[in-house]
Amino acid sequence: MSIVNGFVLNNFTFEDNKSLISVFSKENGLINLYALGLQNEKSKNKYSTLKFSKSEFEIFQTKDPEKMSKLKTGKLIYGIDISTMTYEDYLYITTIFQVVEKTSNFGEVNIRKYKFVNDVFLAFVNHKDGRFPIFLYFMLNYLDFVGRKWNLVTCLKCNKRVNKFVDFNLKERQFICFGCEKKPNEDLKMELFIKTLEYFSFAKAGKIPVETYDSQVLVKINRILMDEYKNEVGLMTTSIGELSKGRFI
Ligand SMILES: [Zn+2]
Repeated sequence: MSIVNGFVLNNFTFEDNKSLISVFSKENGLINLYALGLQNEKSKNKYSTLKFSKSEFEIFQTKDPEKMSKLKTGKLIYGIDISTMTYEDYLYITTIFQVVEKTSNFGEVNIRKYKFVNDVFLAFVNHKDGRFPIFLYFMLNYLDFVGRKWNLVTCLKCNKRVNKFVDFNLKERQFICFGCEKKPNEDLKMELFIKTLEYFSFAKAGKIPVETYDSQVLVKINRILMDEYKNEVGLMTTSIGELSKGRFI
């Protein structure tokens, strides 16, 4: 018997009472668990195995790669009730979970990634009113785990670390400094855009929702990030497709 802590990324039921639960865990990376009787009214594991839950599971772990570990008991730590969520929030959390599922491997342990997902999910659960920026914060910083981290530290042209950037190169996803651009930036939106990206790249997840943001700036960041995930990371999910449509403008 072993204990795993993790996030329920998916939950499929087949043949009435058999379920397959996909979990991104701290101890084992991505794992699939086989469970029986979750549909039963009296099942003690009903809530801990719902999609969008963080739970602690006691499992019968198999070392045989051909077989699947079996769920014994699950204890819900916290979760999100999708019935009380807006459609946009549903798309954000769905995308976050899909991105984690599609870019994680079975048995590949990554504590830094687990902690990042945990911080973002906790912030998402606790802040009903700041979920769009939390989503963007996740999508920007998760790029590090798929080898596509943006360089938001040095200037694209002179390679220097400067504290005054005035432009953003869309193709290279990198800032250009005041010295290289040779003209002052009079575009207030560009200034806010740069500030917001810089803030997202260093702030802690829990701090993200309390700031005030310019909605046009967030929409622009969303558009570039969705484009990055579709075209560079190569992830095209239904929710990324929906979020790419620019329906927030
Ligand atoms: Zn420069």
